[in-house]
Amino acid sequence: MASIGKKMQNAMNEQINAELASGYIYLAMAAYFESETLMGFANWMRVQAQEELNHAMKFYDFIVERGGRVTLTPIGIEKTEWESPLEAFEDAYAHEKKISALIEDLAALAAEEKDYMSRAGILDWFLDEQIEEEEQTLTIVDYLKLVGDSVNGLMQIDAKLGQRE
Ligand code: FE
Ligand code: CA
Repeated sequence: MASIGKKMQNAMNEQINAELASGYIYLAMAAYFESETLMGFANWMRVQAQEELNHAMKFYDFIVERGGRVTLTPIGIEKTEWESPLEAFEDAYAHEKKISALIEDLAALAAEEKDYMSRAGILDWFLDEQIEEEEQTLTIVDYLKLVGDSVNGLMQIDAKLGQRE
């Protein structure tokens, strides 16, 4: 397999940072939910944070496999408090839409560079994954809007999200 091009290597290194930053955001949301004693929500966010580490590692492994160099850069965080579960999940959904755009940019770069191996080897998987990520977070936003101020409704969602493994 041809070694990875410099442009793609750099873009994927940036994506490693974006995936780890996602994990950091979701961990911050888990901590917020923990502080509100919404343990099911916190569980969902912990699992999601773990999944983001896996996403980062997929890019990491792909770069290494193709003879590239992984370079890590600092991870920042902008927000550590939320007003409500709805606000947190609206942020999560907006964040996943941003991540989707980044994956689409990588797919566009792969096309430009005629890097079909990156497209088939990793980017197609991520395009599918982003459909799932947006759908999942939006569904929870919709549930939260549906229950509104109902504590009972909120507890039902919490119980459901507590089942995620
Ligand atoms: Fe991700
Ligand atoms: Ca997922």
